Amino acid sequence: MNQKAVIFLPDGMADDQLPELGGRTPLEAANTPAMDSIARNGINGTFLTLPEGLPTSSDVANMSVLGFRPELNYPGRGPIEAVSQGIELADDDVAFRCNLVYVSPDGVLRDYSAGHIANDVSRQLMTDLQQEFGGADLTFYPGVSYRNLLVLHGRKFSKAINYFKPDSSQDIPVDELQPSPADDSKEAAYTVEFLKELDRKTAAFLAKHPLNVSGKASGNRIWPWSPGHKPNIRSFSELYSGRTGAVISAVDVIKGIGKCAKMSVIEVPGATGFIDTNYEGKAAAAIEALKTHDLVYVHVEATDECSHIGDLKLKMRAIEDFDSRIVAPVLAALKGQPINFAVLPDHPVPIKLRKHTTTPVPLAVAGPGFAPDGVNSFSETLAPTGKLGFLKGEALVRLLLGLK
Ligand SMILES: [Zn+2]
Repeated sequence: MNQKAVIFLPDGMADDQLPELGGRTPLEAANTPAMDSIARNGINGTFLTLPEGLPTSSDVANMSVLGFRPELNYPGRGPIEAVSQGIELADDDVAFRCNLVYVSPDGVLRDYSAGHIANDVSRQLMTDLQQEFGGADLTFYPGVSYRNLLVLHGRKFSKAINYFKPDSSQDIPVDELQPSPADDSKEAAYTVEFLKELDRKTAAFLAKHPLNVSGKASGNRIWPWSPGHKPNIRSFSELYSGRTGAVISAVDVIKGIGKCAKMSVIEVPGATGFIDTNYEGKAAAAIEALKTHDLVYVHVEATDECSHIGDLKLKMRAIEDFDSRIVAPVLAALKGQPINFAVLPDHPVPIKLRKHTTTPVPLAVAGPGFAPDGVNSFSETLAPTGKLGFLKGEALVRLLLGLK
C-alpha cells in the first residue's frame, strides 16, 4: 500500500525538567493538544538523532531523522547550505557556514546571530564584504539573516579544521575560540592562518561599516564554521523504494538537506526561522504537498532559536504556536484519511544550557494500524515508556511509509 506520512519537526524543542515549571519540561507544561493527540492515539518511543563523533548540530540531526546516516555521509553545514542556495561548488572548493556575530568591545562572543540581524542589513554587509575581500581565493554569499556562507577556492585549502560552533560558544572570549588544524597537512595549517588573517581584516572593515557605526546592524564579526566539500547524499527516492518526499522549512540547512537528497523543497513566503514565521502558510503548504508526495517533512526553527536565547516564556509560546498553528490544522485537514503522522524534535536544547545535547529525542507516531500504547501526552518523560522503543537510521521513515 502506498502509505503517506507527515513528519512534524519542532527544532530543538526537547528540554529538561525545570523547578520553575514544577518539575515539568517546557513541552510538558505547554498546552499542546494536537501533539498530545498523536501520542495518545499512537505509539511512543525515542529516536537517536545525534550519533557519537559528529557535530551536535541540526543538519546532522535532521539527516538522521530522514534516515540519511550522517555517520557515513555528513558533508558539513557549509556545503549543505551552499546546495540550498543553488551555489555550484567546484571539486576543490571548501564551503563554510559563515555567521555574522556580535563580539563585545572586551573581545567576548556575545551573540551568535548578531541580534537576529535583519535580512536586508545582513545582505548589505555580506555584499560589501564580498566587494572588499572576494576574489580568486574566496567568495562571500549572503543567506538568510545571520546565516551566510564563505567559500574558499583552490587545493591549497583544507576542510580539516577544528572550529567552535557559535551558538554553543556564547559569552566566551574569542581568543579561546580560535580555529586549529584538524590534521598535520600543510593545507590545514595554511587554511587556519588564512582564516585568522581574514578575521582580522574583516573585523576592522565591519567595525567601520556605516551600518554598524549607525547602530542599524550589530554584525561586527564573521564566524566561519563546519567546512566541507561538495555533498554526496543518496536521493530520498533511491533510499525509499521510489517513494517521494517534500521538505518545508525556512532555513537553508534543512532546505539544503532536501535538495541534496533530491526531495521537493517547497518555498513558503514569510517563513522566517523565528517566532514571526508564517505558520499558516507552512501548514497549508504541507497539506497541499501531501497530494503529490508520499512524505512531507515540516520543520519549524522558532523552538530552537527561543531555546538558544534562553527565554522560557518565548520557548513555550513557540511550542504552543507550533502545536496550534502547524500540527492542529494539518491533522484537522487530513482527518479520516489513511495517513501516518510523526512528531519529534531533532535534538534537545535545554534552556538552562542554551545549547544542543545528544539525548535521544521523544517520538510519537500515529495512523492506521498503530494501536494506542497508553501514553497520554507527548513528553520527554513519557515517550520512553511507550511501545515504539528506541529507533535510529532509516527506521522511522520506513515505518511511516509502510516499507519493510
Ligand atoms: Zn536543530
